[in-house]
Amino acid sequence: MKLRLLTIVVLLVVVTIRTEAQKAGLQRIDPPFWWTGMQNNTLQLMVYGENISATKPQIHYPGVLLKEVIAVESPNYLFLNLVIDNNAKAGSFDIGFYKKKRKVESYKFVLKTRDSNPDLHKGFDNSDVIYLLMPDRFANGDSTNDNMPGMIDTAKRSNPLGRHGGDIRGIANHLDYLNELGVTTIWTTPLLENNMPRQSYHGYAITDYYNIDPRFGTNEDYKKLVKEAHQKGLKIVMDMVANHCGTGYYWNDDLPSKDWYNQWPEFTRSNYRVAVQSDPNAPQADYDKMVKGWFDHTMADLNQHNKLLAEFLIQNTIWWIEYAGIDGIRQDTYPYSYKDFMAEWMQRILEEYPDFNVVGEVWLDYPPVTAYWMDNKTNADGYRSYLTNVFDFPLSTAIARAFNEKEGWSSGTMRLYELLSQDFLYSNPMNIVTFSTNHDADRFFSKMNEDYQKFKLGMIFLMTTRGIPQIYYGGEILMTGREHKGHGTIREDFPGGWPGDSENAFTSQGRTEEQEEAFNFMRRLLNWRKNNRAVQYGSLKQYLPEDGVYVYFRHFEGESVMVVLNNIAENKTIDLSRFEKDLAGFNKGRSVLTRQSFDSLDTLNVPAKSGLVIVLGE
Ligand code: CA
Repeated sequence: MKLRLLTIVVLLVVVTIRTEAQKAGLQRIDPPFWWTGMQNNTLQLMVYGENISATKPQIHYPGVLLKEVIAVESPNYLFLNLVIDNNAKAGSFDIGFYKKKRKVESYKFVLKTRDSNPDLHKGFDNSDVIYLLMPDRFANGDSTNDNMPGMIDTAKRSNPLGRHGGDIRGIANHLDYLNELGVTTIWTTPLLENNMPRQSYHGYAITDYYNIDPRFGTNEDYKKLVKEAHQKGLKIVMDMVANHCGTGYYWNDDLPSKDWYNQWPEFTRSNYRVAVQSDPNAPQADYDKMVKGWFDHTMADLNQHNKLLAEFLIQNTIWWIEYAGIDGIRQDTYPYSYKDFMAEWMQRILEEYPDFNVVGEVWLDYPPVTAYWMDNKTNADGYRSYLTNVFDFPLSTAIARAFNEKEGWSSGTMRLYELLSQDFLYSNPMNIVTFSTNHDADRFFSKMNEDYQKFKLGMIFLMTTRGIPQIYYGGEILMTGREHKGHGTIREDFPGGWPGDSENAFTSQGRTEEQEEAFNFMRRLLNWRKNNRAVQYGSLKQYLPEDGVYVYFRHFEGESVMVVLNNIAENKTIDLSRFEKDLAGFNKGRSVLTRQSFDSLDTLNVPAKSGLVIVLGE
C-alpha cells in the first residue's frame, strides 16, 4: 500500500515537473497545422514559449525543409520558415527544440490533405443576398457556454453592451428560417476569441486569431456550421480584422518586437478620416494618425509593415479559408491598415483561391473613394487594391434620404439616380455590396421613421438595383433602434432566440401581424430574387425620375425586369411610351409582389408611395 502511494506521489511529481517544463517552455505554435499542396509552398511558424530562442529547432520529414530560423527582440519567440515541396505527403512530423544535443521541447506538426470538393471557395456574387447577424444577439443555442472558464466578460443579458449568450449553435438552429426568408449568405460579425473585460460581445477586439471564442463554440463547431450551411444551400462570410487586435492578446505584454504595434509616445487615436488614404493632398501627419493611430484604447494598432506580422496575418486568413471552408470574407476597417499590405493580403488570397471574394469596409459617402479601393481601378497614384468587393456606403446614405424627403431637382429618388450615374467610376459596379443598414447604424425601419410604405420602397430598390444586397438581422421583422442611443439599441436580441423568450419571431405563429406582413413581403421579394437572373446579373438601365416616379430596367439574356418606384403620396398613372426601347418585344408582365398580371404595357397605375416590380413577358 505504502509502495503504491509512493509510486503515485512520484508519478504526480514527474507529471507536475513535465507540465511545468512544458508550460515554461513551448506554449504554442501558429498556425497549429497546415496542408500539403498549397499554391504557395512556404510556411512561417510563430513559436511562443519562455526562452524558446535559446533552443535550436530541427525538422526531419521528406519534402519539408526548415529553411530559416528567425529570432526577434523578445527571447520568447522564434519564427521558423519552412518550404513544403509539392511532393510532400500529408502526415505529421516532430518539430524538435534542442539545447546542445538534448531535445527540450517538441511539437507534433500535422500536414493535412486539402479538401478537394470543387464547390468550395467559390465566393459570393450577384445571385446572393447577404444576411448580417451578430452571433451574441441572434440566438442562444447552448446556454452552457454563456460563461466559460478563463473568459473574463461574463454574460448579463440585461446589459445592452454585455454578453447575451448567443452562439454558433444558435445560428445553426435557424438555418431553415434563413432559407425560408430567402437570403443565401450569412455574414456573422467576428467569432474569434475576444477575452476583453467589457463589450466583448461585438468581437472586434480579437485576442486569438486562431481560436473561436469558447462562448460561441469551438473551431470544430464553426467548421460544422459552414458545412451545415452548405448542405442547406447557404454560404458563410467570415468577418476579419487585420487593422487591430484586442489588448488582451497574450502577446500584448510580451511583443515579439516593439514594432509589432504602431507605437506612440502616448495613446493616440486614429482620426478615423478614411479619405486621407487616397487624398493626394494629405500631409504625412494626418496620414500617420489615420493609419498608425489606435482605433481604441482596447484595440492595439497592428504594424503590418513588420514582415513577420504581415505573414502571420496572411497565413491566418488562408488557414481559416482552408480549415473552415468559408465562402467569403468581410474585412473590417479596410483603409485603416497599410494599403500596400492589404493589396498583398488580397493577392495572396486570390493566388490560393482565384474565385474567392472579400468585401472591404470603406466607410465614406463619396463614390470616388469607394471606387479607389475597388479591384482593377487604375488610380492616379498607381494604387491597385485587388479587393474584389467594396460596400456601397454612399448608396446606403442615399436610400435613407431618398424615401424620406420630397422629390426635387436633386432630392428624393433623384439622389438614387445621381448616385448610380457615377457608376463609371467603378471597375465593376456589379461587385459592390449594397446595403440598407448594418450593425453600426440606425436600423432601417427607424431610418424610414417607422413608415412601412417607405420601408417597402427602400427594400424593393435595394433588391432590384445593381450590386450584391446585404440586409441586417431583424430588419425583416421591423426591429427598430437608433445608433445615437447606444450600440446596444441597434443590436438587440432577436425575439425567440433565447429559451423562454415571450415572443418568437422565428415562427409565423410567434410573429405579430405587422412582423408577419413584413416577413412575408421580404420572403416573397428575396425568394423571387433568388431565381431571377435579370435582377441578379442584368445590366441596369435607369431613366431620369419624372414627377416623383423613378423607373429602371434590368436585362439579362432575353429576361427583363421593370421596376417602378412612386415616391410621392399620390396615385400615379404613367405613360410607358417613354420606355419603349426597354419594353421592346414585351406586351405583358406580372407583378412580383402582388402577382397581378398586366395585359398591356401602354400605361401603368402605381399607388402612392409604392413600388412595382414587373417581370416582363410573363
Ligand atoms: Ca450560449
